[in-house]
Amino acid sequence: MLFLCNFKLKKTKALKMRTVGAFALSLFLLFLVKWANSDSKVSPIRDQFLSCMSTHSVSTFMNSKSLIHEPDSRLYTDLSQTVSQNYRFSSLNFSSQKPILIATPRTESEIQRSLLCSKKLDVQVRTKSGGHDYEGLSYLSSQSPFIVLDLINLRSIDINLREETAWVGAGATIGELYYKIAKASKIHGFPAGTCPSVGVGGHFSGGGFGAMMRKHGLAADNVVDARFVDANGRIYNGRREMGEDLFWAIRGGGAASFGVVTFWKVKLVRVPEKVTCFTRYLPFTQNMTKIVHRWQSIAATLGDNLFIRVIIYNSGGSVQATFQANYLGGIDKLIPLMNEKFPELGLRFQDCSEMSWVDSIMYFNWKSGQPLETLLDREQRYNDLYFKAKSDFVKNPIPETGLEGIWKRFHEVESPMMIMEPLGGRMYEIGETETPFPHRRGNLYNIQYMVKWRVKDIEEMEKHVRWMRFLYGYMRVYVSGSPRGAYLNYRDLDLGMNKAINCSFEDASLWGMRYFGSNFKRLAMVKGKIDPTNFFRNEQSVPPLIV
Ligand SMILES: Cc1cc2nc3c(=O)[nH]c(=O)nc-3n(C[C@H](O)[C@H](O)[C@H](O)COP(=O)(O)OP(=O)(O)OC[C@H]3O[C@@H](n4cnc5c(N)ncnc54)[C@H](O)[C@@H]3O)c2cc1C
Repeated sequence: MLFLCNFKLKKTKALKMRTVGAFALSLFLLFLVKWANSDSKVSPIRDQFLSCMSTHSVSTFMNSKSLIHEPDSRLYTDLSQTVSQNYRFSSLNFSSQKPILIATPRTESEIQRSLLCSKKLDVQVRTKSGGHDYEGLSYLSSQSPFIVLDLINLRSIDINLREETAWVGAGATIGELYYKIAKASKIHGFPAGTCPSVGVGGHFSGGGFGAMMRKHGLAADNVVDARFVDANGRIYNGRREMGEDLFWAIRGGGAASFGVVTFWKVKLVRVPEKVTCFTRYLPFTQNMTKIVHRWQSIAATLGDNLFIRVIIYNSGGSVQATFQANYLGGIDKLIPLMNEKFPELGLRFQDCSEMSWVDSIMYFNWKSGQPLETLLDREQRYNDLYFKAKSDFVKNPIPETGLEGIWKRFHEVESPMMIMEPLGGRMYEIGETETPFPHRRGNLYNIQYMVKWRVKDIEEMEKHVRWMRFLYGYMRVYVSGSPRGAYLNYRDLDLGMNKAINCSFEDASLWGMRYFGSNFKRLAMVKGKIDPTNFFRNEQSVPPLIV
């Protein structure tokens, strides 16, 4: 998603420094003081935890300072800065809680040991892969004490071209996977998200939209095996050992509710040597509304080699639409196809560029021409420090008057954005119960709404979050209903939160049905089997249903 990866907002680093500036610094200091003050209460548990880890030493893990990070360490400080930057989280009362330590295991036995000690001492665990969770659930918790299991050291990628598969460590990013594939083959790729710094741990376990989903489905649809550790520290050596129910659940149902995925085995897909991309900017005119309106009816019906998404944003006070496309083939085929199916867009030869599949990833990130190694950059490039997002699925085209109502609201705040991504193709061929992700046939496209702001100020935050909720309210009549759909990877705690350890299935259904539809019950039953005591829990984890 270009809006976060690298969207071209006209803002320099210097401007960013000025806007956040002194206010951010004073808040950050206050924040550190708050954390430091609460530290004395948790240090006995931390000591017990460290002692538990060392008595059951399975490797050098427990002795190595570089693998367990206490509050005085560099990694820990980096995490506290991330938390402090995501100022919005303080409204959830998360920021007063800090992990008692961060573990960066290199092996499954080190994960196993961390889980066993956590369970023994009743310490919660947050598993972190790429750290992109929209509500910070991989490193924040409203329950204390907790540790963060950061999988940054578990990111080996083994490509098997003969089998056309890859085993990927759950701490790798999709950029690292794309890079490795591209180095190994010109005719293989993988259908996952567009932003390289997203981690495969969260992304695959929540679904995984990307520019090849109309051809090959979600990232999760292309996972063929996995390795996993449960709350009792049992290591599952693949799909056969974990059983089909659990394997089903972790491919779209959010693995954090069930345990820790350590490795995914994915099926690589064939890509043509030539891929064509185009970007067409439309300024705000009556025509823009008509073309977006038309796009709604045709985007999901085009041949599955063609993915055209629309990004609506406010550029200097004027609403604009950008059509960004990826076509698995050459320009010679794309132009006639567009002339036949979508002439309204007026696509011209000079708007298009042919490139390799991996360069199309760079193109979607506005990084064309840069070294491929930028795909390995794990750092999130937040052009704006704060944001709130929500999602919807659309089953019937929104009328032009409805679209105009959205454009009107886009004038009310700074940096609103809406990304519309078409389904259809392979997304329709997969049944709604085949994986936990139910939003298949019958849905034309997904919307991701996002609003960003730059000033670290509680009123600014409230203003933007309130605006987002108003827009969401306005959209209700135009989007899916009963229940209104949402996408887990665009996590939204507004949909509901588990209030207690033993949150009931009925209460959790409020938000669970939105993400998973009728699959939510099966997810809760899988949870009831694999983790009946609800050890792996968070503000939006699936509760155990024991029948
Ligand atoms: C800049 C940006 C771009 C994005 N682009 C896309 C996109 O193109 N398409 C799309 O579909 N989504 C996209 N997303 C959303 C993204 O897919 C989700 O936020 C995803 O969950 C992130 O995974 P992560 O591993 O980076 O995050 P994390 O924050 O590390 O994890 C997210 C969740 O998964 C859990 N988890 C992580 N690893 C494991 C594991 N090994 N075992 C069990 N649980 C685990 C965490 O505990 C947490 O609950 C984007 C998000 C951002 C911030």
